[in-house]
Amino acid sequence: MFVYELRFECFADTTITAAEKAINNLLEAYRANGQVLGREFAVAFNDGEFKVRLLLPEQTSIHKRHNSPWGNKALEQLTEAKLLAPREKYIGQDINSEASTIETPSWQVLYTSFVHMCSPLRSGDNLLPIPLYQIPATFNGDHKRIIKWQSEWQACDELQMAAATKAEYAALNEMVSVDSDLFRRGWDLRGRIEYLTHIPTYYYLYRVGGESLAQEMNRACPKCGSTEWKLDEPLLDLFHFQCQSCRIVSNISWDHQ
Ligand SMILES: [Zn+2]
Repeated sequence: MFVYELRFECFADTTITAAEKAINNLLEAYRANGQVLGREFAVAFNDGEFKVRLLLPEQTSIHKRHNSPWGNKALEQLTEAKLLAPREKYIGQDINSEASTIETPSWQVLYTSFVHMCSPLRSGDNLLPIPLYQIPATFNGDHKRIIKWQSEWQACDELQMAAATKAEYAALNEMVSVDSDLFRRGWDLRGRIEYLTHIPTYYYLYRVGGESLAQEMNRACPKCGSTEWKLDEPLLDLFHFQCQSCRIVSNISWDHQ
């Protein structure tokens, strides 16, 4: 991932409020399309211009050709707020994050965790993130729903990792159960992505608990009940189960590995 600075200059008298609103709208549009990563953006005002640092999945992420209709509209609205089009400055490569995949994968998986800022759509060949703007818009011109699902998954993950509140169990249930809202939304998104990209797309179902390793090895697909989904070798050292008809991958319980 790459760090860029965007600079917005005023070309006529404006108010800080109007300028901030227009800038934040553009940043939200980029975020909803997977063009910038992370949730919070510190916009700084100094010497008549606004500056913001952004984390991009690729060096070309905010090129116009990747914009959603909302992104293009937000650029036009900068003019109404008396701001020039932003100027980009390359700051450097982010040392803590993964590169994006450039090859078309043979399969893909919706997979995230609370420490991952990158796209939750990963290549099944190498687990590298696939920038969301590289696939057709999933709903209403961008990928808002995928970003929202990722935020919810991460919030549940953070609660269950902290293991300090009663919310831990409710959060964990959202992550492990095929009857949860989180599963239903993510699994539907997975189907939409597969339909749009024509690439088999799986949902990663988190797994903890279970009685014993022996029982874990024989557990059935929680959606269709098949016991045929256990793999001889785990995929990507991570997924020990794969149900091709349900499009689910899962791990041997983290408690028994
Ligand atoms: Zn199944």
